Amino acid sequence: MASTFQIECDCSRVKATLSGVPKVRGYCHCEDCRDLLKIPYHSVTAWEPDQLSIEQGEDELIWFQHPTKRMKRVFCSQCGETMFNTNAMDWRVVSQLLIRKCYDGDLPGGLESKMHFFYGRRIVDVDDPLPKRD
Ligand SMILES: [Zn+2]
Ligand SMILES: [Zn+2]
Repeated sequence: MASTFQIECDCSRVKATLSGVPKVRGYCHCEDCRDLLKIPYHSVTAWEPDQLSIEQGEDELIWFQHPTKRMKRVFCSQCGETMFNTNAMDWRVVSQLLIRKCYDGDLPGGLESKMHFFYGRRIVDVDDPLPKRD
């Protein structure tokens, strides 16, 4: 299993490397993710700050601070791609969809979701075999 993963934005100006094992990988149904990203639920890989290094294009990144929550949405100023968001623990939360896109549509081994969390706060039901936790 690879221990580093490369991601980049749509215009390739921003490139980043993820290293090691993510702290969390799963589907998050909390209202914070919904509010920050305007998605029904989030396909999360969460990393410590030092597990994500920006290799190129740091100047292009905009760190949008949510007006009320301790979260940021970090995106490329040129193409608008969200590279990751941060949560109250300052983890780097990278969408599985972005990683998948950077690997020709296949999520690399070791990053797939293991569970749904905050499932009690969901707005959509998901019918899959993964454990559901509130
Ligand atoms: Zn870009
Ligand atoms: Zn969430």
